Amino acid sequence: MPTPLLFLLHADPTGGVERVERADPARPHVSVSDLSATRGDGVFESIGVFAGRAQAVEAHLTRFARSSAMLDLPAPDLDAWRRVVDEAAAAVADEPHVLLKLVWSRGDEFGDRPTGWLHAFAMPDHAAEHEDGIAVVTLDRGYRSDVAETSPWLLQGAKTLSYAVNKAALREAERRGADDVVFVSTDGVVLEGPNSNVVALVDGVLVSTPPALGVLQGTTQHDLFAWAEGQGRPTAFRAMGVDELRRASGLWLTSSGRLLAPVVTLDGEPVAVHAELTRAAVEHLRSRTR
Ligand code: PLP
Repeated sequence: MPTPLLFLLHADPTGGVERVERADPARPHVSVSDLSATRGDGVFESIGVFAGRAQAVEAHLTRFARSSAMLDLPAPDLDAWRRVVDEAAAAVADEPHVLLKLVWSRGDEFGDRPTGWLHAFAMPDHAAEHEDGIAVVTLDRGYRSDVAETSPWLLQGAKTLSYAVNKAALREAERRGADDVVFVSTDGVVLEGPNSNVVALVDGVLVSTPPALGVLQGTTQHDLFAWAEGQGRPTAFRAMGVDELRRASGLWLTSSGRLLAPVVTLDGEPVAVHAELTRAAVEHLRSRTR
């Protein structure tokens, strides 16, 4: 079945799913007073599907539940969501790259139940970025690296629908002639991209930022590290400074859609590119069976 596809998950006030409805994605379905639209008050997940194989489903569902809990939303019924993910992935098995977007909002401002839907749509082939790499700029996120601990109401580390700041950062990158962003904390710690995690190869170790520092726990980064460990390549979570990124022997942004984007310049300066590792890792990540 060709994309786009839409599944509406009609929820009860506690988050249980009463009914799943296949709907026409070309028609409007969300109310103008839904808090997803008016406040960005909800959470989402984006799951990559390669030739019918939905990737890292359990990790995405676990994060969906964790983000919901951070926003005090009703807990989503993960069994119901899993069934819809599986149905959608099976329906798009003929397409090479599809993204499933799962959305869970606090619901209609004048109602009493959350709103949920799953939208499946074709995503572009990222082969050119895998080969040619991306230009990245560092931007100050304006928070200290301990913000998740000191100010949990800022929801750092939750995948909320409020991505206006992330989109603004990407526009700033474009103004600076770059493709993407690495956010840095006010105390100089490398955080994450607006929709990716940062991974650097430093002294033979693949390093990423600890989720405790207010970054999203990445499903792609997690599977990349598991694969690398299996290849005998050590991995670590620790705080890095921008200088470490500059002298890394490979630098990537990881995310479910693009998988692994090698960074070729950082703030206009070339950084080392590890094409072999990029190719092997992309191949592995694309062929995950779950
Ligand atoms: N960090 C942020 C802020 C993101 O939005 C994303 C992706 O959606 C990621 C990291 C990467 O997460 P994943 O690899 O699970 O897609």
